[in-house]
Amino acid sequence: MSPKLCDPAQCTGCGACRNACPHDAISLTFDEEGFLSPKIDSKLCVDCKRCENACPNLNPPQLARTADPTVYACWSADADVRAQSSSGGMFSVYANHILARQGVVFGVAYDEKNRAVFVKVENVDELKKTRCSKYVQADVGTIYRTAREELEAGRPVLFSGLPCQIAGLYAYLNKEYPNLFTCDLICHGIPSPILFKKWFESLDEQYEQRLEGVDMRAKSQNATEMSIALTLTGDESRTYIPWSQEEADYVGQYFMTNVSLRSSCGQCQFATVPRQGDVTLGDFWSLGLHVPFERRDEIPRGVSVNLINSAQGERLVEQVKDDAVWFERTLQEVKQGNPSLTQPAKLHRKRERFVRDSVALSYSELRRKYFNKLGPTFLERVQARIVRRFRKIVGKPLRQKIARLFGGGSE
Ligand SMILES: Cc1cc2nc3c(=O)[nH]c(=O)nc-3n(C[C@H](O)[C@H](O)[C@H](O)COP(=O)(O)OP(=O)(O)OC[C@H]3O[C@@H](n4cnc5c(N)ncnc54)[C@H](O)[C@@H]3O)c2cc1C
Repeated sequence: MSPKLCDPAQCTGCGACRNACPHDAISLTFDEEGFLSPKIDSKLCVDCKRCENACPNLNPPQLARTADPTVYACWSADADVRAQSSSGGMFSVYANHILARQGVVFGVAYDEKNRAVFVKVENVDELKKTRCSKYVQADVGTIYRTAREELEAGRPVLFSGLPCQIAGLYAYLNKEYPNLFTCDLICHGIPSPILFKKWFESLDEQYEQRLEGVDMRAKSQNATEMSIALTLTGDESRTYIPWSQEEADYVGQYFMTNVSLRSSCGQCQFATVPRQGDVTLGDFWSLGLHVPFERRDEIPRGVSVNLINSAQGERLVEQVKDDAVWFERTLQEVKQGNPSLTQPAKLHRKRERFVRDSVALSYSELRRKYFNKLGPTFLERVQARIVRRFRKIVGKPLRQKIARLFGGGSE
């Protein structure tokens, strides 16, 4: 009997099974959709079942997390850190605090081949490379083992990752550590490393092999829409490209339409409140849209949404209170702009074809086949129009009554 890991369609690639195997019988290799998935070497496997026990899909960690977290809109008091971060720079606020206590931080950086990988950070200078969202699945490698070594050594540890990766860490550790602080991110879902690599190489070719790095959430002084920023050899200033342009199609079209996401993102059991991390970070998209917010002028500089999910999270917040600017808000307000907080991604109807093509085709062939061809079908447009009319004609109280009649508590 060999171990039975979770259904491949549900596997998030968190790598807890690989980290847990004492015989290194599990490797993460690229599957036919371009994602890293576990593969068991039956010659090395002794069927000890530690991989099964560490799988967060098979054994979701039982964590003391509140369903009613305190919610803040907040940002780093350090304007430079905030400018270099995706939203309000709160990850760096927590990370700096842990580093100042001789602790260690785990996050995602690009390696020398521009692959997104989990890394251990020991000082403020190294922290820079983990800043900003890399919208691609990062290789976990054996980082959970390294985190456990640091925890066992008694150092304060901050581990930041997507909810499935935080669940993977806890399932792997299977033990509580008072020196562990975790931060999960609100997650839209993740594209594959193979697709990212092809996009990066196509840009590199276009810019005559001068591309050193790409920032997918660039903040420029005069940007009016989401942009990527390219760092090119020999150019002091960065090249900004709005997400709506063809060169940024990886994020603007394939990430945002959910056509490039991992299949497990469509049934993610970690897209929920209570969360996995002690704190949750994201972008406060709906801030001030429905409930007045007195500092609206701050929104273009980036505002984080920050959920405090546990007593450990509360302790952490208390210790960094002076390093950030805080405004208490409600969970309801966050949900209005962040469906990914509580719902798995709705995968695009062409997802399966797209991800397989992303492995088989060159990036230019992929672009020819899918660029500007991912909008709703005629039927979907008609359905959407009917729903909009229905909502206009029928008022909210009546809609709620109908929902209750059909068994739903609310809409
Ligand atoms: C794949 C992905 C999807 C996201 N989807 C949403 C969303 O739908 N809604 C929303 O509100 N926020 C989303 N976020 C979170 C958001 O983009 C910011 O990362 C978050 O607001 C923290 O920003 P910051 O300014 O505090 O710090 P930053 O310095 O910008 O945050 C960097 C943090 O993100 C981590 N990180 C970067 N790339 C990855 C990666 N590939 N995998 C795991 N961790 C990574 C770093 O380790 C670091 O901890 C997503 C992030 C990622 C990586």
